Amino acid sequence: MSRTGTLYTVSAPSGAGKTSLVAALIERSNGLRVSVSHTTRSMRPGEHHGVNYHFVEEADFLAMLDRAEFLEHARVFGNLYGTSQVWVEEQLKAGTDVILEIDWQGAQQVKRLRPATRSIFILPPSRETLLQRLNQRGQDDQAIIDKRMAEAVEEISHYVESDFLVVNDDFDQALAELESIICCHRLATDKQRDNLATLLKQLLS
Ligand code: 5GP
Repeated sequence: MSRTGTLYTVSAPSGAGKTSLVAALIERSNGLRVSVSHTTRSMRPGEHHGVNYHFVEEADFLAMLDRAEFLEHARVFGNLYGTSQVWVEEQLKAGTDVILEIDWQGAQQVKRLRPATRSIFILPPSRETLLQRLNQRGQDDQAIIDKRMAEAVEEISHYVESDFLVVNDDFDQALAELESIICCHRLATDKQRDNLATLLKQLLS
């Protein structure tokens, strides 16, 4: 019998280091993939179509929405973002664990649709560090940074809706904590019962 993958959402305010943490987590874990979202925002330097996002025009995004192709979607900082329903379903059915790097609105929608989803919230270690990280990114102008700092407080206020809280102060420690969340879920009896079917059958015979 094959097991169904677990769906995780990872949310955080901009500048909490979520994308770097998730990338490192994916690199170190087997059987775990991150969904590449569709977005109407413009590409930043260093980003690639189909890698960081599927960059689409608003009309195309709205057409996909009409065809119910998104598991969840939201408008964040004036741009539309959405997660492909088909891709996620295929991965989970194949037994792959999936991470969605999405905002609190998306995380709420996913939890409502799939209550078994595990939600993780990443916090920066302080307000000062958050501001510093937003400034260091150096790819957005000051107006955008100011707007994102204000939005960060709104995003953080939704931490209570998540199952796990991870503080990204020391990167390696935060990464180890994320790994242990994934590991813990893989060891749950309802997952292990299928993985260990042969062993359990032998032990109980
Ligand atoms: P950025 O444009 O800086 O990459 O992301 C801005 C915000 O949009 C982040 O909070 C990010 O998690 C969120 N986001 C990215 N993809 C999705 C998505 O598919 N759905 C939702 N709801 N939020 C997303």
